Amino acid sequence: MAGKLYIVGVGPGSPGLRTVAAINAIRDSDVIIGYNTYINLISDLINGKEVIRSRMHEEVMRAKLAIEKALNGHVVSLVSGGDPQVYGLASLVLELISKEGLDLRPTVIPGVTAALAAAARLGAPLNMDFAVVNLSNLLVSDEEIMMRIKAAASGDFVIALYNPISKDVLIKAMNLISMFRNASTPVGIVRNAYRDGEFVITTNLGNWMRYLEVIDMNTTLIIGNSRTYVYRGLMITPRGVTGYERD
Ligand code: SAH
Repeated sequence: MAGKLYIVGVGPGSPGLRTVAAINAIRDSDVIIGYNTYINLISDLINGKEVIRSRMHEEVMRAKLAIEKALNGHVVSLVSGGDPQVYGLASLVLELISKEGLDLRPTVIPGVTAALAAAARLGAPLNMDFAVVNLSNLLVSDEEIMMRIKAAASGDFVIALYNPISKDVLIKAMNLISMFRNASTPVGIVRNAYRDGEFVITTNLGNWMRYLEVIDMNTTLIIGNSRTYVYRGLMITPRGVTGYERD
């Protein structure tokens, strides 16, 4: 008998930001697979289940195992932090299924992604159009990352940066953005949003380097567009020049 495969986003960390659908999928499952960090985020939901914890860089192995277990009749939840499509495992699982021509249709359950969680902590910096760029150069070349940064910066998108793992790449990206925006453009830095050790700061393109040491792999940066401003620490991107007058 075929089982079931849920690809579940569990949000940024706190139980309050999980969806009911995510909780139900995890409760329904007898096998839970994910990185240690994400498994720890849902430790209250997994008592009595088979739990397969994996380390970084084991994505393909994890995805294959989840598929195999589901095909063998288990109900499996493959968990991601935030949303499973945003630099998560959802597309990898679907790719493997399609390449192997397998008869399995997973259920993808969306979650609150880091950009939204970080933005909420900063105020409302994401109004108007925004772009999300992954700074990890594991799967994408530095040139491609910078090409996207340049396009987003020149298009005046608010920019959310994920995976600021290499300081070199981060500095290059911020310098490139600075060629299109004033030094006074607000920059929000959020580490461990909705988790223990949360850190939130609003700075700007001229001064963000002061915080280089606090930026780690659990940090998301949000760079404002030409209209973004700060009021009492709140980062605000207006909806339009006179947008507030229209309601
Ligand atoms: N699928 C996840 C993202 C995985 S990539 C999601 O949708 O949120 C991992 C990156 O996400 C981290 O390097 C960091 O940039 C960001 N991130 C994830 N959780 C975060 C949190 N709680 N606070 C701040 N940034 C976070």
